[in-house]
Amino acid sequence: MGFEHHGRTYRLDWEDASIREWDCTVVWSDADDPEAGIVLDRSAFYPGGGGQPPDHGVLLWQGVQTRIVGTRKGDDLHLLPAEGDPVPPAGTAVQGAIDDERRTTLMRTHSGLHVLCGTVFRDFGALVTGGNMEPGVARMDFNLPDIPPDFKQSLEDSVNAEISADRRIDIRRLPREEALAIPDIVRTQARFPPETAEMRIVDIVGLDMQADGGTHVASTKQIGRLEVFKVENKGRQNRRVRIRLAD
Ligand SMILES: [Zn+2]
Repeated sequence: MGFEHHGRTYRLDWEDASIREWDCTVVWSDADDPEAGIVLDRSAFYPGGGGQPPDHGVLLWQGVQTRIVGTRKGDDLHLLPAEGDPVPPAGTAVQGAIDDERRTTLMRTHSGLHVLCGTVFRDFGALVTGGNMEPGVARMDFNLPDIPPDFKQSLEDSVNAEISADRRIDIRRLPREEALAIPDIVRTQARFPPETAEMRIVDIVGLDMQADGGTHVASTKQIGRLEVFKVENKGRQNRRVRIRLAD
């Protein structure tokens, strides 16, 4: 099993972040214990991680639908059905579909955080100490003891200049040793199991490169305009920057 699989599930979301519908087969489920979830042979559901929340969506099969409202990550990737929805038994052919609005908004928000992170690192040399995102709104904490008086507005202007530059966002995999040799490649608390032979690199060409398992848009213009709506002090060293999609 390489980086393309989580247990028995092939990760379509890693192959192509634009996939919203696909055909697949149930590998495992338990009719007596719906909360144990559903394991698919192929799935585009982002299961959550690295600050990005899991996708929502549906499985369509034999004229019924199973709403998917979360995931549980173990040896396999378990999709959690909405309470009371029917659970397709193992072997069932199903059509998967992802809530496009939620996922696309999360991809824009997540990519916006990378632009923020890359801009703050370039202009201030500051590292990320924490972060969180919801669809359309996010925060990121930086080790940033000193900021200029016009920090909020000038940061918003700089971030939007990078978005307007329409920088390509490339995804590639590198052997672990090669990836870790790139300076500052692990800038957030992204955790990669030590046995992972490859690392997935998200590169906003010319601005920001990070080890990351999330979903992103293909170029920065797709993020749309970002608003830096609040900068807070979090202790002597830390600044919390809050952003949201402006359109
Ligand atoms: Zn990311």
